[in-house]
Amino acid sequence: MIELIHVSKCYRVKGAPSVHALNDVSLTFGERGLVFILGKSGSGKSTLLNVIGGLDRIDSGEIVIQGKSSKNFSQSEFDSYRNTYLGFIFQEYNILPEFTVGQNIALAFELQGKKASKEDLAKILAEVDLSGLEKRKPNELSGGQKQRVAIARALIKNPEVILADEPTGALDSATGKAVFDTLKSLAKTHLVIVVSHDRDFAELYGDRVIELKDGKVISDISKHKIDPSKISSGVSIIGGKTIQIQPGYILQQSDLSLINDYLRNSKEGTIISMDPKANKNFRQLTKTDENGKQDVFASTKPQEVKAF
Ligand code: ADP
Ligand code: MG
Repeated sequence: MIELIHVSKCYRVKGAPSVHALNDVSLTFGERGLVFILGKSGSGKSTLLNVIGGLDRIDSGEIVIQGKSSKNFSQSEFDSYRNTYLGFIFQEYNILPEFTVGQNIALAFELQGKKASKEDLAKILAEVDLSGLEKRKPNELSGGQKQRVAIARALIKNPEVILADEPTGALDSATGKAVFDTLKSLAKTHLVIVVSHDRDFAELYGDRVIELKDGKVISDISKHKIDPSKISSGVSIIGGKTIQIQPGYILQQSDLSLINDYLRNSKEGTIISMDPKANKNFRQLTKTDENGKQDVFASTKPQEVKAF
């Protein structure tokens, strides 16, 4: 668990007003989940990630890691926090262009003083969805694949926490998606904190979304899955506004009267759609899955933070 308590950080540059990059930030992060840090350029996102990662010092406040204040860290505790507890992923891929995927990963093993067996290599490639690509050179990979090699390298030290600063900043949205899919699956067993300015991705993938403005936290919300309410065996209502009818189900008289109640309140008219593409787009827009479960964000509560 990582806790920031009233953390502030100022940058002072000669001849310019000082910048409050972080201004009294208090946040608690749990053991798992995908947490997005959102905000405009200059809002303090990278500074936040860097102070969490021990790459940057804070001016005031405290950072508590696994119950121990980093103020009381010895140099070796601090080194081990940075080198074994955390894995970093940056926008630039941090991979060696003249080495193959397999060699890049093997090198990361060597840097940890380990020797990569064939099984180790296969396991780590599968984790980032790059199985079978170990003989490729980076220039034979898409941007998203390169970024997943970088993620594989970060995973080799088996970190508890993965910190990623705009990992898809250089990618188009299709390749960016594959990187987020990988991070999302890692977030089942790791805490993954991702800096991004893409709200759509944050809401689609994030378990929690923290928004910064001028170095302050202006919003901290977490995702909940809301079940649809069933009105009969084949009909359910999603979010109070959408009626979902199971494939193959034929409306009964009792359904009809309930549905008519809805229609009476529907000022904009109602669409019944059998177009799979339109329905898919509609589900995306309303953040609803095939079973009618809807993603809804609400203020993060302290007791939720344990999970993410
Ligand atoms: P973001 O990642 O959200 O774009 P940053 O955390 O990089 O924002 O920066 C927050 C603020 O701190 C910005 O105003 C930026 O100009 C300033 N800043 C960041 N790093 C430095 C630095 N090394 N020296 C001076 N100012 C900095
Ligand atoms: Mg930044």
